[in-house]
Amino acid sequence: MPNSNLECEVSSCTFWIPTNVCAATRVSIADQYAKVPAGTECQTFIPRNSFTNVVQSISNLNWPGIISEPFNLGKQINPIISCSANNCTYWAEGDICTAKNILISGMPVSESPDSQCSTFAKKDSSLP
Ligand code: SF4
Repeated sequence: MPNSNLECEVSSCTFWIPTNVCAATRVSIADQYAKVPAGTECQTFIPRNSFTNVVQSISNLNWPGIISEPFNLGKQINPIISCSANNCTYWAEGDICTAKNILISGMPVSESPDSQCSTFAKKDSSLP
């Protein structure tokens, strides 16, 4: 299954790149009890407010995407998404997001609960 295209507006994150790109290799979206977008969060968020945080984020930086972006057509920098918000209509077994595009937002964001997946749509519980 192709990976969802992620757009992020959380400019206070160390992984955030202008043009709303996330430079993390892997992103974890939570959580299983969410009923509305505000009930979700990007657990990979690291505040861009200290040198220590920037250093901490290096191990999860998408170096292959960052290096190949200038030389290839199309978006090369896009994280692998794992999502545990199983109340979402786009959620699939294995914590897979089936949405074509997702938007991470929240303003201001100083810690991960301030962020949210604005693409979250509660599953219609009347359907099987
Ligand atoms: S908040 Fe999450 S999705 Fe946005 S840049 Fe940071 S890690 Fe990526």
